Amino acid sequence: MIKFLNLKEINLRHRDELMQAMADVLDSGFYVRGQQYKAFCEEFAAYCGTDHAVGVANGLDALEVAIQALDLPPDSEIIVPANTYIASVLAISNCGFTPVLVEPDEKTYNLDPEKLAQALTPKTKAILVVHLYGRAADMVAINAFAKKNDLFVIEDCAQAHGAEIDGRRVGNWSDIAAFSFYPGKNLGALGDGGAIATNNPEFARKISSLSNYGSFQKYVNEVKGRNSRLDELQAAILRVKLKYLDEDNEKRRIIAETYAKKISNPLITIPQLPDNRLSAVWHLYVIRTPEREALQSHLDQAGIQTLCHYPIPPHQQKAYAELLHLSLPLTESIHQEVLSLPMDPTMTHEDVESVVDAVNAFKI
Ligand SMILES: *Cc1c(COP(=O)(O)O)cnc(C)c1O
Repeated sequence: MIKFLNLKEINLRHRDELMQAMADVLDSGFYVRGQQYKAFCEEFAAYCGTDHAVGVANGLDALEVAIQALDLPPDSEIIVPANTYIASVLAISNCGFTPVLVEPDEKTYNLDPEKLAQALTPKTKAILVVHLYGRAADMVAINAFAKKNDLFVIEDCAQAHGAEIDGRRVGNWSDIAAFSFYPGKNLGALGDGGAIATNNPEFARKISSLSNYGSFQKYVNEVKGRNSRLDELQAAILRVKLKYLDEDNEKRRIIAETYAKKISNPLITIPQLPDNRLSAVWHLYVIRTPEREALQSHLDQAGIQTLCHYPIPPHQQKAYAELLHLSLPLTESIHQEVLSLPMDPTMTHEDVESVVDAVNAFKI
């Protein structure tokens, strides 16, 4: 059986170091916002190349706190890709703002800068960019559009830790950026975790306070905040795993490049490799086929686990009845056709070859 993602194996590679990190936290007597937390925030900011990073409880909170820190007027609209994971859209509506969904570029599955102008209204205040499937969006064009129209830019980097554009990493291409450390992400904790990165000292201060009861000084509350802190244990675990992130991302690139070179089946569209290989960290390797169900059961019979990211677009979810009237044909066809092949830095060369052979043997 080839798993879609062998999380246990991923973490067991670092068993001794992780056990030691957990023991250090236990012995320290500090369990929230202590030394491990401070050190991880510094190391993660250094990794992203940003001046500041603030750990929070999860990726959705990271997005919400990032949006809150912008202090937007109450009836603001925020542009977001229509084909994202629902968290990106939820963050906007949970903050009381209106998500404006935009169709992606089919070649990259990311926001299409050409389609931003048609989504713009006098109420538009920000663009929430998602680096979907681990591929950096076209930040140069998106930032140029944002600058021209006086919009904030937020990056959702939950799937793209370490991806870079022109030598500068994601999280460093916007006013404020959100990360998730959900176990299955490229940088994953042993539980929930998230972070917000920014180069703006004012935003850094606000985020730190908003995620800690709106407080800098214990029992003094400047704003109505929330409790969303990255705990010591997860911070210590993430410090271990951060050291291996680049190595794992490179393994993912090699798997993606092998798939791209060897998968040749007329029923299947594979993702285009980016011009700069460092701009993708391949959180997911997503192929497209009108025969998705048949392919998935064919692979299942060959002992290969696949998943679908994602089967239902946000605007067709019951939770978003108010968006159901939207017609987003590109997004809708993507959601009907996508299938994610195994993508895991612990896959062996033989595993990758087996996936290739099984995909190439598929016919109807
Ligand atoms: C995982 C994910 C999130 C949310 O992260 P959590 O830690 O699960 O809250 C947000 N956006 C995208 C694109 C994601 O993939």
